[in-house]
Formats: sequence, structure tokens, C-alpha cells
Amino acid sequence: MIILDGKALSSQIKSQIKTQTQELKTKHNITPGLAVILVGDDPASHTYVKMKEKACKEVGFYSIVHKMPESISQKEIEETILMMNENPNIDGILVQLPLPSHIDTTRILELIDPKKDVDGFHPYNFGRLVQGLDTFAPCTPLGVMELLDHYKIDPKGLNVCVVGASNIVGKPMMALLLNRFATVDICHIYTKNLQSHTREADMVVVGVGKPNLITSEMVKEGAIVVDIGINRLEDGRLVGDVDFENVSKKASYITPVPGGVGPMTIAMLLKNTLKAARKRIHS
Ligand code: NAD
Repeated sequence: MIILDGKALSSQIKSQIKTQTQELKTKHNITPGLAVILVGDDPASHTYVKMKEKACKEVGFYSIVHKMPESISQKEIEETILMMNENPNIDGILVQLPLPSHIDTTRILELIDPKKDVDGFHPYNFGRLVQGLDTFAPCTPLGVMELLDHYKIDPKGLNVCVVGASNIVGKPMMALLLNRFATVDICHIYTKNLQSHTREADMVVVGVGKPNLITSEMVKEGAIVVDIGINRLEDGRLVGDVDFENVSKKASYITPVPGGVGPMTIAMLLKNTLKAARKRIHS
């Protein structure tokens, strides 16, 4: 069994991005810029935003965080996004989700200029992704693809079972795998007999948010197992959706949590922001 080490790969990618950022500065006087909109006091959201800010600093990006109170109005968030759309120093705009319930999240995400949509959540970019066109793909599933490529795991012709079908994880994961000619089976909360799907799969990719959802009886011998889930247990431990201890005995490759897909997500955010900044060269 081989561990798919996202921590090691993400630091390699970050150091490449740092070098490329330096080049962009010297040759074209461009510093990639990321704007983050953070609403409310959710501790997990604050932690994620801090990690993103730190990563931007490490690679030499310019970053700003617009912190807004829980009581903020739809209009005020929208005005900030429109301002960031016009700001020439900002290449990427990210709205940390979830937003408070009085905010229309879909409308907010649709207001981001698709050229600055480094999270890849805009329906325009998702449509392009499904059609296999150049786009910003959502960072988490993009990180999974990068991890598979690094370990020379080719999805072509594999039966892949994606468990979880959200707009930010499962659906774009399905599209990326299909674009690489995997046969994709996508499962969700209403799927009957989940294990009849997972047991057939050469690769299981799970992003649900339920500890131990995937047990060893649910995967076939030699399967590749990718765990996107992040769950904080009562004792403070961070675990994924896979019963790692037992599933790892059957898997050929497996991602750990932490240290698997999580760090890849941030590396892909940096990659997408650099890609957006490069578009300034020819504009
Ligand atoms: P979500 O709640 O939007 O979606 C969950 C999906 O799982 C839904 O499609 C739902 O139908 C499905 N589901 C729920 N219970 C199920 C069950 N018993 N069997 C099969 N499917 C079931 O969540 P999300 O935003 O997509 O996040 C999913 C998980 O991925 C969470 O643990 C989240 O923390 C994690 N996540 C990790 C990263 C990362 O960087 N590693 C990034 C984003 C999300």
C-alpha cells in the first residue's frame, strides 16, 4: 500500500509557484493578488482563511481579507465583489463558504468575474469544466487530480465511484475524472445500497463529511482510495470519511487525513491565482 502524500507534494508545488511568482514580478512587474471575503465568526472558516493568507505570503502573492460581520447585508457583500472585480491588483476573488443564511450564496458567486473565479464555483466555469474546456476547476477536486498524476495513476478506463455530489466537491470531481476517460459512478445521500457501488470500483473518491462512512467491506482488494472528508471528532482529532486503519490494509493507494487532499486544495488555489495573474501579461 502506498500513501498518497499531499503534504509533501503540496510543498513542492508551493516552491515551484514561489519561483514562478518571482519570475512574473521580474519580467512583467506583476504580483498575483487574491481577495478573500470572510463573513461571520465561524471558527473553521477563520482557520481556513488564515491558512490561505499564510500560503499567499509564503509564495509572494499580494492578499487582502475583507472581514465582515454576520449581520452584513447582501448589498454590502455584492458591492465589495464588484469593487474587487474592477481592482487591477486583484486576480482572484474567493468567498469563504458557508455564508450566513440570510445571504443568497448563488447570487454572490455569480457576481464574481469568471476571470477572477479562482475557486471555480461560477456556473460559467463549471459549464466549461463539464465541456472539457480551459477553465478554473474547483481547488479540492483539482488537487485530487494533481495527486493522482504525481503518483502516475491514470484514471483512463478505471471504474471510479465518487461518493458525495456537492457543487464544490463531488460534481466537479466527476467532471474532471470523466474528462480523463474514467467511468464515473456518483453516489449521494439517497443512493441505495452504497456498498454495491463502492465495491465495484477500482477507485473510490469520498467527500461527504461522515467519519468511517467507508469501511473495509465496502472496497475491493487493491482499490485506490481518496478521502476528501474532513471531520473534527469530539476528542479534537481530525479524520476523514474512510476507516483508514482497516481500509489501508486492502487499498493499493490511499490518502491520509490530515496530510492528503487538504494541503493540495490550498496549493491549487495558489495555482489558479497564478494562472489568473498570467492573463494580465497579454491584456
Ligand atoms: P456537502 O454537505 O455540501 O455535501 C455532502 C454530499 O455528501 C452530498 O452530496 C450528500 O448527498 C452526500 N452524502 C451525505 N451523506 C451521505 C451518505 N450517508 N452516503 C452517501 N452520500 C452522502 O459537503 P461538501 O462541502 O461537499 O464537503 C464534503 C466533505 O469534504 C466535508 O467533510 C468537507 O469538510 C470536506 N471538504 C474538504 C476539503 C479539503 O480541502 N480536503 C474541501 C472541501 C470540503
